[in-house]
Amino acid sequence: MSPDLKNADVAVVGGGIIGCAIALAARRAGLSVALLERGRICGEASSAAGGLICAQYDADYDTPLFRLRAAGRDAFPEFAQLLQELTGLDIGFSKGPTIGLALTHQQRQLLKNRVAWQRNAGLQADFLEPDQARRREPLLPPHLTGAALYPDGQVDTQRWSPIVHRALLAAGVDVHQGTDVTAVAAGPNPTVQTVRGTLSADRIVLATGAWLPHLLPGAPIVPSRGHMLAFDAPHLRLRHILHLPGGSLAQRSHGRVVFGATKERVGFDRRLRAGAVQEMLNRALATLPALADCPLASIWTGFRPEPTDGLPLIGRDPESGCYLATGHHTHGITMSWHTAQLITRLLTNQPPAYPLHPFTPQRLTVP
Ligand SMILES: Cc1cc2nc3c(=O)[nH]c(=O)nc-3n(C[C@H](O)[C@H](O)[C@H](O)COP(=O)(O)OP(=O)(O)OC[C@H]3O[C@@H](n4cnc5c(N)ncnc54)[C@H](O)[C@@H]3O)c2cc1C
Repeated sequence: MSPDLKNADVAVVGGGIIGCAIALAARRAGLSVALLERGRICGEASSAAGGLICAQYDADYDTPLFRLRAAGRDAFPEFAQLLQELTGLDIGFSKGPTIGLALTHQQRQLLKNRVAWQRNAGLQADFLEPDQARRREPLLPPHLTGAALYPDGQVDTQRWSPIVHRALLAAGVDVHQGTDVTAVAAGPNPTVQTVRGTLSADRIVLATGAWLPHLLPGAPIVPSRGHMLAFDAPHLRLRHILHLPGGSLAQRSHGRVVFGATKERVGFDRRLRAGAVQEMLNRALATLPALADCPLASIWTGFRPEPTDGLPLIGRDPESGCYLATGHHTHGITMSWHTAQLITRLLTNQPPAYPLHPFTPQRLTVP
């Protein structure tokens, strides 16, 4: 075994934001943690993401997934504060109202119904007439038919990789980047085989995102490719995150406006698709015409872990004996800290603080 690979109470495989949040939460619960990442910390979906911390913009009824997302959104500020405390660095998290836009009469009715349901359920949500929305956000287009206001937030995922890495080190997590895990064996003597040697751990957490089936063949996770665009727009002042049918726009504190994202099942093909970029540009410019004069700063793709039955996998897998934490699909940034807290309770033998049965990996084996 490579001398720096030390045995630990918990081995977390995968250093995306889900694995990193679990490593931090488990370490804070007093466990020794080794985190094994084959690339760099938050180098895949977790830095490709739009970084919206949001739960309500598409929620029309109560479901276990909606509750998980809402709990995730509400838990996230604590995570942002922890990262700031551990590093003294700003991850670009801001809370703020977001606006859902309606561009047709049908969409207006949909928003009205959504807001009515959410208010009835005790959530904060307001319907805005087009002129009210434009007073709040003067850059909105003239052809608006209505809007809805929700409490959400965003984090600058394009710049948080080194900050999350530093936070892990400051918390005492044993971090191994460039360490591909080739096999895991749970059971009485759990071991993790890596390209740099094998280590033992009492418990193994698999947080390998869209790549879970590479370690657990047959696991019901597929990659869902998303394209993102970024514009350099320091002279524009976008006061809200905007959710439009088919995409979201958000402005970072340094002025960059990000827009995403497509959802495509094309395997692990990272290449940009010309048609996707064209559709996205059309949509972004139709919503914020002022973007047409801005430099296009960057275009990229990333792979969300999409669960084939629509629900994340959070809990112990009776077959492999590993704890699974993946399948957060479109909202893994939002749900990261809450998932970490849920998994840490399981790792420390505490009863779940939350009904976990809809997400348990057991659903895959029990008919
Ligand atoms: C374009 C796009 C936009 C998005 N926008 C948002 C958004 O606005 N808000 C939101 O909440 N969510 C968003 N998401 C979803 C979110 O990014 C994901 O749900 C989340 O990042 C998943 O985190 P993860 O840690 O599970 O996966 P990842 O970040 O992909 O991390 C998995 C890690 O495991 C590592 N790994 C895999 N196999 C191995 C192995 N064998 N050994 C060692 N390491 C391994 C990988 O290298 C990777 O770093 C978006 C995603 C995309 C692609």
